[in-house]
Amino acid sequence: MAFLPFARPDITEAEIDAVVETMRSGWLTTGPNAAAFEKEFVEFLGADAQAVAINSATAGLHLAFEAIGVGPGTEVLVPTWTFTSTAEAVRYLGGDPILVDVDPETLCIDLEDAERKVTERTIAIAPVHFSGLAVPDGALSDFARRHGLKVVEDAAHSFPTLNEGKLVGTHGHEATVYSFYATKTMTTGEGGMVVTPDPELAARMRTMRLHGINRDVFDRYTSNKPSWHYDVVAPGYKYNLTDTAAAMGRVQLKRTPEMVGRRTDIAKAFDEAFQGLPLRLPTHAPEGSSHAWHLYVARLTDDAPVDRDRFIELMAEREVGTSVHFIPLHLHPYWRDTYQHAPESFPVASAEFQKAFSLPIFSAMTDDDVTKVIDAVKAILS
Ligand SMILES: *Cc1c(COP(=O)(O)O)cnc(C)c1O
Repeated sequence: MAFLPFARPDITEAEIDAVVETMRSGWLTTGPNAAAFEKEFVEFLGADAQAVAINSATAGLHLAFEAIGVGPGTEVLVPTWTFTSTAEAVRYLGGDPILVDVDPETLCIDLEDAERKVTERTIAIAPVHFSGLAVPDGALSDFARRHGLKVVEDAAHSFPTLNEGKLVGTHGHEATVYSFYATKTMTTGEGGMVVTPDPELAARMRTMRLHGINRDVFDRYTSNKPSWHYDVVAPGYKYNLTDTAAAMGRVQLKRTPEMVGRRTDIAKAFDEAFQGLPLRLPTHAPEGSSHAWHLYVARLTDDAPVDRDRFIELMAEREVGTSVHFIPLHLHPYWRDTYQHAPESFPVASAEFQKAFSLPIFSAMTDDDVTKVIDAVKAILS
């Protein structure tokens, strides 16, 4: 059997047909597919909100932080246990990401540590619903309200995730940002979406997504004003999503329930098979919430026969790709040196990072693939 990669996109003939049809249509850039994708995305969420399609979640975080007023002299609370995007987008605007330790159960932002780090400069919190498990919204909303903070949710892992009875993206926070990167729960190759209930934030993000022009490209060719006429109102960015990508996304969106169902089944099979091994298995969602199972992150316990790095090597020898999510930001040279972070300042993340690994859990995995992962883990850890 060939090497099982850590992740592989789940693409069917339907996505391929949709992209080919778009290529034949004569309209490749942001157009009717992107507009339909935005509409269908908020319909899926059932949100009274607007969706803004962009070419990555990183772009979406940048747009959202810009729209809520992040800039020099402002601070945003960001968990250290995340991909660098969440923090770097704050730096793009000259703001400071204030790294926060994580909860040892969920590896999501620890609101008690966040409490200690709020200052008069703090204007927002950017929780990451890590691996597909949400930061409980009651506590999050309460925290934000008490400190007068805006909330930009990094939902790169949590499409779709129920958070205390409602899907992530429907709790009324300023912005929720999704990623459609190739390894995420649904993909457009590269792409993303920002959802906001606030029409003013939506308008600002739509403008900044395309050069600070106050009308979309598509409008330029369909509205009855002359197509050459537009106003540049700000030095915006180039973050729009192509129609070929949006066409793929529309099909992936329809297949989302099927794909999340498959990942949930795989997680269940892993949980059952790994009982009794020296592993701390992933935390499950509490009653009323759900887990999107973007990642299956387990941690070696102290009685494991090998350390994490050796475990990953042995898995590779057994032809199974694994990964680590994440090397905490405070350990990366840029963040460490710029903000003088020490590992001891983030005791939970620094310790858990030594033990954590992610197993393949993508919806295109066959039953044989799942068995291969289980057999490899058991052979190494039994
Ligand atoms: C993947 C990821 C991102 C960035 O997504 P892109 O679409 O690649 O920009 C942001 N945050 C987290 C937590 C991620 O895992």
